[in-house]
Amino acid sequence: MVMRISEMHWQQVESYIGSNNICVLPLGCTEQHAYLSLSTDTILAEKLAFDSAQTLGIPVFPVVPYGLTPSFLEFPGTVSLSSDLYLKLIGEILCSLLKQGFRRIFILNGHGGNTPARAVISEALTKFPDARIKWHDWWIGPKTWEKVVSIDPDASHASWMENFAWTRLKGIAQPQHRKPMIDPNVYRQLSPSALKSYLGDGSFGGLYERPEEEMNSIWDVAIEETRELLQSGWAD
Ligand SMILES: [Zn+2]
Repeated sequence: MVMRISEMHWQQVESYIGSNNICVLPLGCTEQHAYLSLSTDTILAEKLAFDSAQTLGIPVFPVVPYGLTPSFLEFPGTVSLSSDLYLKLIGEILCSLLKQGFRRIFILNGHGGNTPARAVISEALTKFPDARIKWHDWWIGPKTWEKVVSIDPDASHASWMENFAWTRLKGIAQPQHRKPMIDPNVYRQLSPSALKSYLGDGSFGGLYERPEEEMNSIWDVAIEETRELLQSGWAD
């Protein structure tokens, strides 16, 4: 069953809403990820949304490919929206879906910097009090994160933990050393240009790649955790 909105026509969505009312909205970002794709967060959010929702017959909306990442703007290829625009964008997407009858919206977020958009959920719920909206930061879902740290606790932005078969670039070799972890207390204080010098290649530290079986085992846990959240835990 194909349940990507990009592969459905509107009457199919209309009849879906007649019998069900849940959908997934993935949120990504276009920002530097060291030697990985600039679209890493976008690719992971969209793929996890689809891999989790497909067998449940839940439609997945197109991923929002831009988000909030002002601190990486000195890295070419990074795009950051202003926060007022981004919050308005997410709010308007939610209201479009809620007006049409979707009542459970599962936001699958792939980028930590997008968190301020959570504020618009409560705003949307003031207009649609019978709706339910969940926000899931997939990589720090308790089960997924537990799996990650059980493999290697040095896991962060643009490290091995984001290096999946679908985010790495063909023909690009990854460094083989273990980069010292950056100090979050330092990086949060820096301007974009100071941050660029501090980060060097852009990774926050750790190895750059790990065996494929380990990566697949993390992905399996992420799918399982997302499916559970899609199917249960919705407030009445
Ligand atoms: Zn990322």
